[in-house]
Amino acid sequence: MTNRTFTMIKPDAVENGHIGSILEKINSSGFKIIAMKFTKLSLEKAENFYEVHSDRPFFNELVTFMSRGPIVAAILEKNNAVEDFRLLIGSTNPSDAKEGTIRNLFATSMGENAVHGSDSDENAMIEGAFHFSNEEILS
Ligand code: UDP
Ligand code: MG
Repeated sequence: MTNRTFTMIKPDAVENGHIGSILEKINSSGFKIIAMKFTKLSLEKAENFYEVHSDRPFFNELVTFMSRGPIVAAILEKNNAVEDFRLLIGSTNPSDAKEGTIRNLFATSMGENAVHGSDSDENAMIEGAFHFSNEEILS
């Protein structure tokens, strides 16, 4: 499982027409998509997904944003997937994100930062299972 990570293309990037460009970056950076869906989080699902952040001051803004429109959820496979994908997406705050990273190219603000990427192998597994059944993972 250590070669998998989980991502979402967030509502801002979907609204701004960046699905295709972001998937192209993901593929050309060596990640293989092994599960993917175009879906929408209810407020309750967003609250569950981001439960670890429930005490943070930005929680309400985050879950409102994440449930306001469709997202693309995907499981990605690559050697060292979690770490390499965090490098590809760049810092949480797009103004700190290195040139050429997905957040540098497509994010609009610290909150509306275009993509999610898991922060550990354990969370990649939990987050992938949150969105996909085993039958939906085509590795
Ligand atoms: N976020 C925010 N304000 C903050 C920190 C985070 O709105 O001060 C949002 C942002 O969308 C971020 C998400 O909450 O992507 C989860 O935060 P985390 O610290 O896990 O950042 P990430 O792992 O996404 O880089
Ligand atoms: Mg995080």
